[in-house]
Amino acid sequence: MLKFIPVIVALWAALPFPAEALELVRDSKLLCYILTEPDPPPPIRFAASELAAYIGKTAGLPPCPVSDREIRGLLPLRLRLLNEKSIGDEGYRISVTGKGVEIGANTGTGVLYGTFAFIEKQLGVRWFYPGEEYCPVSGTLAIQEGVLQEKPFFTTRTIQHTHSARGRYLETWNWIVRNRMQLVTDKGSYSLWRKELEERGAVVSAGGHTLVELVSDRLFEKHPEYFALVNGKRIRQVEIKDRRVVKWLSQPCLTHPEVQKMVVDGICKSFETDPKTTQYLIGNNDVPVWCECPDCRKDDNPDEKVRGIVTTRFYKFINRVAAEVHKKHPEAKLLAWAYQSYQDAPLGVKPDPSLEIRLCDHYRCYRHDLGDTSCSRNERFRKLYSDWSRFGNPLVERGYQETLLDTGSYFYLPIESVMARDIQYFKKHSVSGLVYLVTTPEGNFPKDSPYLPMLRERWRCQWQSVYVTARLLWNPDQDYRSVLEEISSRYYGPAWKVMKKYRELLTELYLAAPGHIVYLQPGTDIGRCLSKKGSKEQLLQYLADAGKAAAGDPAVSRRIDREAEYFRLLWLAASEKYQAALNSTVSAAWRNGEIAIDGNLNEPSWQNTTVTGNFVRNASHTKGALTKQTHARVLFDSDFIYFGIEAFEDAPEKILVAETKRDGNVFNDNSIEIFLADPASVYRRFAHWIINSKDAVYDEFYDAASGKKDPGFNFGIESKTVVLKDRIVTEVRIPRKVFSTAPYMDAPWRINLCRNRRLKDGTQELSSWSDGSYGNPETFNPVLIILKNGSFEEVSGASGNSPEGEDGPKNPKDQPLFWSRENRPGECGVMKGDAFAGERFLRLRKEGIHQKIILPEDFSRDLSIRFSARGSGKIAVNMYLYDRKTGKFKKSVPVQSFELRNKTEWESFSVNYPVRGTETLRIAFVVPGEADLDDIRILPVERADLLN
Ligand SMILES: [Zn+2]
Ligand SMILES: [Zn+2]
Repeated sequence: MLKFIPVIVALWAALPFPAEALELVRDSKLLCYILTEPDPPPPIRFAASELAAYIGKTAGLPPCPVSDREIRGLLPLRLRLLNEKSIGDEGYRISVTGKGVEIGANTGTGVLYGTFAFIEKQLGVRWFYPGEEYCPVSGTLAIQEGVLQEKPFFTTRTIQHTHSARGRYLETWNWIVRNRMQLVTDKGSYSLWRKELEERGAVVSAGGHTLVELVSDRLFEKHPEYFALVNGKRIRQVEIKDRRVVKWLSQPCLTHPEVQKMVVDGICKSFETDPKTTQYLIGNNDVPVWCECPDCRKDDNPDEKVRGIVTTRFYKFINRVAAEVHKKHPEAKLLAWAYQSYQDAPLGVKPDPSLEIRLCDHYRCYRHDLGDTSCSRNERFRKLYSDWSRFGNPLVERGYQETLLDTGSYFYLPIESVMARDIQYFKKHSVSGLVYLVTTPEGNFPKDSPYLPMLRERWRCQWQSVYVTARLLWNPDQDYRSVLEEISSRYYGPAWKVMKKYRELLTELYLAAPGHIVYLQPGTDIGRCLSKKGSKEQLLQYLADAGKAAAGDPAVSRRIDREAEYFRLLWLAASEKYQAALNSTVSAAWRNGEIAIDGNLNEPSWQNTTVTGNFVRNASHTKGALTKQTHARVLFDSDFIYFGIEAFEDAPEKILVAETKRDGNVFNDNSIEIFLADPASVYRRFAHWIINSKDAVYDEFYDAASGKKDPGFNFGIESKTVVLKDRIVTEVRIPRKVFSTAPYMDAPWRINLCRNRRLKDGTQELSSWSDGSYGNPETFNPVLIILKNGSFEEVSGASGNSPEGEDGPKNPKDQPLFWSRENRPGECGVMKGDAFAGERFLRLRKEGIHQKIILPEDFSRDLSIRFSARGSGKIAVNMYLYDRKTGKFKKSVPVQSFELRNKTEWESFSVNYPVRGTETLRIAFVVPGEADLDDIRILPVERADLLN
């Protein structure tokens, strides 16, 4: 199958005779007219009126004449249909000779694209985003003779403007076709604004979350067998209230012959009732619940089934439907998603070769492009693209550029370089295009939407990225920086020189900050970008300078003001939230030395960490006061999070434990539960484990907002439970990559631990660490790691941007993440090998390091500071105090100075520091001579009442 049409000629190629300039306007007098065939197809009619208008506009005159007959004395600009295979459906040829201009293409849409290419390249007009353009005006217009023939490299180039109801979005439609993207619309809009849409060559597409439309839930009473069998019961597809879908419930039974017939008939009907409908997207109802009847299960691939994946069964269904539809409508274009539990490529079936696959890559990272192998988050998506592309079907990215939640709803993200590199990736991996997701400034949004007015701003927030994408989809080999330079110099005019610096710094900070930027992430993560000292002030200064530079130009001033507003609303607000999150929150330590998952909490790491207790009974399940308390400890390292849970029990021989299977009925046994939520899900999606006292595990991923469960979730947990005389001890290890964000960066992870105490005599007592509640992430405890990277295992990466690296490390590669240098004249670097614990340690010579330590605001206890060192001379531990409100440095408190006696052997030291004041603290280690430092740990001195 031919997937790409190569770009043929991308330059004005000179004709064999010397190039001349052809005059269209001289001394404010029009010398030309537009010539079409009589009664041209709507897109050519529209192209003619646009060309006439823009020639007039750039000359400061009314539109030039449009005619289907020759006008003597004027030069013709002829728009015409050709029949030349090499040009393709969307390509065009523009010839400028001494006799006039000819814009020819095989289709009306091709002529329309060619006309806009002419307006752009010869008249100098640019369209920034819907409603705003650049249009140079001059009394003379002379264009260069020559030929330009172009075709788009990518065959799918769509903007999907979400969130808005149907509307007559003329500016948006114009922007799309003027920038030679494809205008795709739905049947309803087409019937309302047929003329406008026809003129712009709109493609009518049907389908989507379509099963519920094709198989009516009204049949449920009479034919329950058409619907999904779930837990032994047939269920409907949706829950309806006030005629609106309030909840998606399931897919119908897709192996039932009557259901298949209804789907085929429905799709055929949509092609028949309006022949303008040319494509149909076959997608599931928006919930990953599938029929469990024997016939449906037979379509599952066993390897997929154990992981909760249904791609094979769904594509078997889609293939059957496609074959039937194509019998009646061989030309019909059918699309299918790769989405939810069918995002993975099928293992047991090959998609029908006629299908265009739309890979929905939500949860991909938009800080890193898809080809960036350093991005662990996108590893999965690289595999998806590679797996799906093997089938040879046209494969299209369904993007999620509308990425952030909360303050982030402004989406003021400089992602144009990410998009440019993505497009290179797509070219390399035979992906045939993309759908860019962005709302339009013209949108009809619900008046009560909490996201107004930011919805209207999203395109303007990302206009550079949308613009660059449209260009590169035609020619991916263009340098995006020159595209950006060209358009931005027109957009910012006299302010571009300084706005360029602003944009470059903003992009640099965005790209260099640690962690990933993923769909539904809190905007707070953007706040981390501004933690580099002075960056915020520098950006504000650039904006102020740009404002001054634009003073004489009201349009440019408005644009700069708007940009400053976006910066304030997303970046500055996020920065404040991020700083606040760093300053609030309870404690976990970094692991030191090996930990065996054996149910024995005897390793030094467990011994030296804080014990947390005070579980609270669950009010709805347990009456009376809690009789049995539980203690918990948490540890981290760079790969895992560890839990040590001790459930005190007077009658351990009586505990009820029956289940031995994975994902079985573990909850009804004596068990513990772990909930983990990360900020990337706004603490709404969380991982959940139940472990009974025989270590049978139930696990799932849960979305608290929608109530969706992902039972396929199966994340490498290890646990060992030991029943002692007075307690049941469970030791657990969970891979940290269950989430993409590190637990101690940005907003912390939140954790809940629960205990289901069940005895054979019927005694039950449920309790939890989070005030008695279970799966309510709002109440989960944030976990505080007072000191970050005390093991020096984490080195600031290639970006060189340590989130707290206020001093700008001299050699970023080997500087410890989260630590700042004193900036003494000495040296500081992370060394590998021969560490006290782990792989790395820090070597200091005539230098000191410090780090802000994070404590709850009302913290008034002693801190225990422990570390290991070797070397000669002294090592001083100091505490720097800052005013909490103003951030002003108050004083340095020497905590203790230790004499180092051994250059080669590690020695351990400890000291306590009483926290009584309300200052912000930084802990510092200063080495006047030379010393190695490792395994620094700071924990609150344990509360005696928790010690057993
Ligand atoms: Zn079924
Ligand atoms: Zn990433």
